[in-house]
Amino acid sequence: MCGGLDSYLRMCNHDTVYAGDRGLEADDALLALAREEDRRLITRDVALSNRAADAILLESRDIETQLAELAAAGLDLSLADAPRFCGRCNGPLEAVDASESTPEYAPDPSETECWRCTACGQYFWRGSHWDRVKETLSKIDGDGTESIGDR
Ligand SMILES: [Zn+2]
Repeated sequence: MCGGLDSYLRMCNHDTVYAGDRGLEADDALLALAREEDRRLITRDVALSNRAADAILLESRDIETQLAELAAAGLDLSLADAPRFCGRCNGPLEAVDASESTPEYAPDPSETECWRCTACGQYFWRGSHWDRVKETLSKIDGDGTESIGDR
């Protein structure tokens, strides 16, 4: 998994592990994790990608180009209306009830829909970062087909 891409993939509701977050560096450890957790490997390492049947090999160093490469490989990159995975730690998100209070940095859940990570406690909402990601993803031209529910 390539750093930087993980938060994009999570915002598209892909359960995504960044190898660095798990302290994984050795190819064997990465391959074992992918097998055990039934994950698809995304890497810029040719030798590594050749060792996993369904790995996606990225050639670009640029995030936007990498996203286009993922779209071309068949990954659904539509931004999720209701996010399921924490952009920071990949933990499961839960919706924050409108009557609950949120930390200083997060908006009022009675005005803005918020989610909380049940693993690390981070709050998420559709703010300026979400808008930027949406903008970036809207420029990605995958196989040219529009996904259902995409606006
Ligand atoms: Zn988290």
